[in-house]
Amino acid sequence: MSNIDFENEYIDKILKNLSTKDKIQMIHGVALFHTGTVPQSEIPKLVMSDGTMGVRMEFFENEWRAIGKNDDYVTYLPCTSAVTSTWNKELAYEAGFVLGEEARGRGKDMILAPGINIKRNPLCGRNFEYMSEDPKVVEEMVVPYVKGIQDNDVAACAKHFAVNSQETARMSVDTIVDERTLNEIYFPGFRAAIEKAGLYALMGAYNKFEGEQCCTSKKLLNEVLRKEWGFDGVVVSDWGGVHNTVEAAESALDIEMDVSAEFDNYFMANPLLEKVKNGEIKEEFIDEKVRNILRLMHRLKMIGPNVEERLSGTYNSREHQKAAYNVAAESVILLKNEENILPLDSKKVGKVAVIGANADMLHADGGGSAEIKALYEITPLMGIKKLLGGNVEVKYAPGYYVPGKGARPEISWQADSTKTVDEHGVQVSEISEEERAVRGQKCFEEAVELAKNSDTVIFVGGLDHDYDVEGLDRRDMKLPYNQNRILEELLKINPNTVVVMYVGSPVEMPWLVNVKSLLWSYYAGMEGGSAIADVIFGKVNPSGRLAETFIKNVEQCPAKLGVNFGNKERVVYDEGVMVGYRYYDTENTEVNFCFGHGFSFSSFSYKNMELKSGNNGNVEVSCTISNDSLVAGKEVVQLYVAPKMECAYARPVHELKAFEKIYLEPGESKEVRFELSDKDFSIYDIEKKAFVVVPGCYEIQIGASSRDIRLKENYIK
Ligand code: BGC
Repeated sequence: MSNIDFENEYIDKILKNLSTKDKIQMIHGVALFHTGTVPQSEIPKLVMSDGTMGVRMEFFENEWRAIGKNDDYVTYLPCTSAVTSTWNKELAYEAGFVLGEEARGRGKDMILAPGINIKRNPLCGRNFEYMSEDPKVVEEMVVPYVKGIQDNDVAACAKHFAVNSQETARMSVDTIVDERTLNEIYFPGFRAAIEKAGLYALMGAYNKFEGEQCCTSKKLLNEVLRKEWGFDGVVVSDWGGVHNTVEAAESALDIEMDVSAEFDNYFMANPLLEKVKNGEIKEEFIDEKVRNILRLMHRLKMIGPNVEERLSGTYNSREHQKAAYNVAAESVILLKNEENILPLDSKKVGKVAVIGANADMLHADGGGSAEIKALYEITPLMGIKKLLGGNVEVKYAPGYYVPGKGARPEISWQADSTKTVDEHGVQVSEISEEERAVRGQKCFEEAVELAKNSDTVIFVGGLDHDYDVEGLDRRDMKLPYNQNRILEELLKINPNTVVVMYVGSPVEMPWLVNVKSLLWSYYAGMEGGSAIADVIFGKVNPSGRLAETFIKNVEQCPAKLGVNFGNKERVVYDEGVMVGYRYYDTENTEVNFCFGHGFSFSSFSYKNMELKSGNNGNVEVSCTISNDSLVAGKEVVQLYVAPKMECAYARPVHELKAFEKIYLEPGESKEVRFELSDKDFSIYDIEKKAFVVVPGCYEIQIGASSRDIRLKENYIK
């Protein structure tokens, strides 16, 4: 008997012995983070936890209040954007593995990660939890990430399905996207996670899709997910994403979760039981859900013959901390390095001034459901100090005033988060405008004084989780707290000031022309500060690359704020497939930094591009990359396909189709090979409901970023 037959038979046997009431227990939350048990059939509860940067702290079963014991501190991993900016698939696996092993170690069955919504507009409050503006990058990184989690007998739960790229009116906004765009941009990450990583679970999105709530959408869940893609895992609602009993029952949703503690009143609890009893809803709908849940439990070895073999996980191991460091170190992006200002020589820095509140700020405990209790968090200031040691004078000044930090409310914001949320993220300060201005001025003067009396100035600014936060989109890309003022002043005092942005999403950079060296770090986890210091002082050669375009200001984004992004009732994705660099590169928009960009302390050359026909009509592309410098380093070799023929459809000038990160010793050369299939020369045809090849001439481009193409060859498809 095959595994699948065994599984089905085993599941059917259990199902037969379950009453309707038992089944209902299994398909909704009976606590904020778990489903019910059926003791007489030995069916355990299914225990879930957020989230995307580590396993979240423990909450009371029926109250959004952290229990507050000291046993739920965890490894704080770099946020999903940081993991992605490594462009390193092995590290994506490693990050996923840590998350999975810690989830299991904390007794969880499902970890509500990764977040893989497309970054459609830089203002989306949850972009730091997401991977990229580009579906190929998402596909390539999500697969190892999910495998890493699930290799620990824990389910990954990719979220939020689908088209959930804004936080404004997130519970109700209706999202309109054409079918080609869905299939080319918004679906591939989810589909790859299912087809290539065997994803066990998926979370519905809060928003509506073409009038239906995503969590109970027949189009998204029944037709696309189950029928077209054959997904046989579990679909969990987002917390409070279900709004109707019949819709929930008839949709392919399996588990309803909510922020409310009135568990019996959930749509898929007593109200559903009633409707099944009085014949309004057929029991088969519930059986299907229970089957999916039992299948998941069997796969996770929660039930069945292999229970004893289930991995037990662990948390806060040294290996996990090392992995957090490795990911952080490769996630840092060197955006600019004129005159080779970086790396600094730790023996020659003289007196060091570290300026900027983000140098000394902790971030783990924020952002919404991604919040965690980090076992520790090394700030950039601590990272710099521990690297330089006691013989170097390092002085710190915040440089600008950040109001309202520190006091976190006892009761989590999450209880209210499904009601109309306007400004919960930005903490309301009790300090008056005038007083803030006075404090800001004092910070400014102090920092100016310090910079004047120092030999080396390192500025660490950026955003924090009052801005990169669930439930709220930013209004613009401006740096908050009047940071630009002090930064501009520092650049006058010391034109060699090293600028570090520690953030979750892109910001305007009015000072960019005056900056010689600029490092970018997404929230980089517990070892983030060590990683940044190691890059600044050359212990690590930076190899992060942008997985999103850094535009100059939000007006450049085709998803226009107030027109088709950030609306409360309806958003129409009328830019279609022209998302991110697909749009900016096609329009030749002058941006701050293009997609795929990131420098290294090494320099690489590209040569010997060759195209060869491979198996099944595929084309093999190869080239040689050499490290022409005296420093070992890593390069991300990117392959784009550019259609050169007339086409009836709007097509971007080029699209990323493959990438590889390689390590090269000084003077070393390596051959890099890619294989392109029909799919890479296709577009999604809505009539045929499939990807179809568009024949004609294509330019295959290999380069170091979307705007730094080093090699190209024509190819006739
Ligand atoms: C978020 C989800 C999260 C869930 C549980 C919701 O508010 O949108 O991403 O997993 O809460 O905390």
